[in-house]
Amino acid sequence: MADTSNKLIQGATGDWEVVIGLEVHAQVVSEAKLFSGSPTAFGGSPNSHVSLVDAAMPGMLPVINKECVRQAIKTGLGLKAKINLHSVFDRKNYFYPDLPQGYQISQFQQPIVGEGRVVVDLEDGTTAEVGIERLHLEQDAGKSIHDQHPTMSMVDLNRSGVALMEIVSKPDMRSADEAKAYVTKVRTILRYLGTCDGNMEQGSMRADVNVSVRRPGEDLGTRCEIKNVNSIRFMGLAIDYESRRQVDILEEGGAIDQETRLFDPKSGQTRPMRSKEEAHDYRYFPDPDLLPLEFEQAWVDEIAASLPELPDDKKARFVADYGLNAYDAGVLAVDREAADYFETVANGRDAKTAANWVMGELFAGLNRLELEVASSPVTAENLGRLIDLISDGTISGRIAKDVLEIMLEDGGDPARIVEEKGMKQVSDTGAIEAVVDEIIAANPDKVEQIREKPKAIGWFVGQVMQKTGGKANPQAVNAVLKKKLEL
Ligand code: ADP
Ligand code: MG
Repeated sequence: MADTSNKLIQGATGDWEVVIGLEVHAQVVSEAKLFSGSPTAFGGSPNSHVSLVDAAMPGMLPVINKECVRQAIKTGLGLKAKINLHSVFDRKNYFYPDLPQGYQISQFQQPIVGEGRVVVDLEDGTTAEVGIERLHLEQDAGKSIHDQHPTMSMVDLNRSGVALMEIVSKPDMRSADEAKAYVTKVRTILRYLGTCDGNMEQGSMRADVNVSVRRPGEDLGTRCEIKNVNSIRFMGLAIDYESRRQVDILEEGGAIDQETRLFDPKSGQTRPMRSKEEAHDYRYFPDPDLLPLEFEQAWVDEIAASLPELPDDKKARFVADYGLNAYDAGVLAVDREAADYFETVANGRDAKTAANWVMGELFAGLNRLELEVASSPVTAENLGRLIDLISDGTISGRIAKDVLEIMLEDGGDPARIVEEKGMKQVSDTGAIEAVVDEIIAANPDKVEQIREKPKAIGWFVGQVMQKTGGKANPQAVNAVLKKKLEL
C-alpha cells in the first residue's frame, strides 16, 4: 500500500482515515442472457427481449449459458483470482415490481471466483494493491419506468435475466482517488478481456460504494453503502461527501447507522435509501432448479492460454522495451486501441517522441473532437509519417502541429498536405540571411541589447519565425543569427 498519511481527513478532534470497499456490477458481454436465449442488446423497444424464463412464467426452467461462465472465468483470471471448479447458484429473495420471479438467481456462499488482487495505478505514478474478495454471477433485474404515464408505472423486462458479474473488493482503499483508480483499472482489465464493455453511461458497469471512517490504526468503523453509482467522477464526490458526513457525526459524539444511501449528483450529497436492518434478510437458499456449477481445470487452463496481454504486462513491456516512464506507459496501456496505436507509431521511430505525440497533440485533438482513438481521423501510420517529416527536416515541430490540425479535420497524408499548403521548412541559409539582415537593420536598439545579454537571441528567433510564417528551420536560424550578430 502507498503511504496513506496525506490522505487523512482532518477533523476538529484529530485525524480520520477513510475506508472504502466496492461492489462493482459488470454486465457480461454475451449474445444471450444468463439463463435464457433472449438477446442482451442495449436499446431494444421495451419488453422485446423477454423470453418466458425472463418473465418468470410458471414452469419455466433456467439453463445456464456456457459463454457467461467462460466470461466469468476469464475475468477471474484477469483479476489474478482463484477459480472455483465447484460453485452454487442461490435464490436471493426480495419483492420488487421489476423482478417477476420474486428472487434473483445469484451466488452466495460458493461463488465461481474467489480471492484475487488488482494493481491500481495512482496519479503520482505509484501503484497500490487492492484485494478482491470474490466474483459471482447473477441475474440483472428489469426496470421500472415512472415517467411515461401520469398515474401508472411501467415495467421493461429487457434487462431481466442479463448476466452480471459482481466483483467485491476487500475494504482496501483509503481515499476517493484510490477508489476511482481501482474502478478505472477494473474497467480497463474487463475491456482488455472483452468480458464487459465498461460503459457506465449505458449502465453496463456500476458500483455500490461502501464507506466508513476510523481513527488511524483502529478497527473498521460502521459502513454505509452508496448504491448504484454510475460514473467514476460521481463516485469520488460521493466518497468525499459521505466520509465528511460520518466524521462530523462521530466528532459530535454520534454513531453511524449502517444503512444504504443514494448519491444525488445535483446536490452532491448522499441521502438515506433504506436501513440495512430491514433490507438485509434476503433469505438466500440454493436454487432447486439448478445443479451446482462444475467444470474441469483443463477448461480453465484452456481459457487462461487464450487471454490477451493484460494491462499490467503491457505497461511493464512499454517501460522495458520502449524506455517510457511508468506514468506514460500506464496512460498508453489504459485502453487496447491506444496501446496498439502507440506501438504502430513507435515502430522504427524514437519511442519517447511517438509517446509524446500520441499522448499530447493527438489525444488533445481527439478530446476536443470527442472521438475515441479507434475512430481517429489520423491513422497511426499517418502520425508516424508526420513524425518522419520532422526528423528528416522537411518541417519543424511547430509546423507539424498545424499539419496535425489539418489531418484531424480531414485525415490525409501529411507529406501531401505539406506539399499542397507550401508548409515546407526553409533551411536555405540564403533565404534566412535575407530575413535576418532585414530584422537587424530595423532594430538597432535590440542589436545593442543583445551584446550585453546574449540570451536575448530568442527575440530575434521569434521575429524570423514570424516573418517566415514559422517555416524557417530553427537550427539554421540560430546559426545565421549567431554569425550575423557576432555572438
Ligand atoms: P453486503 O452484501 O452486505 O453489501 P458484501 O460482503 O457483499 O456485503 O460487501 C461488502 C463490501 O463492503 C465489500 O466490498 C467490503 O470490502 C466492504 N466493506 C466491509 N466492511 C467495510 C467497512 N467497515 N468499511 C468500508 N467498506 C467495508
Ligand atoms: Mg452490498
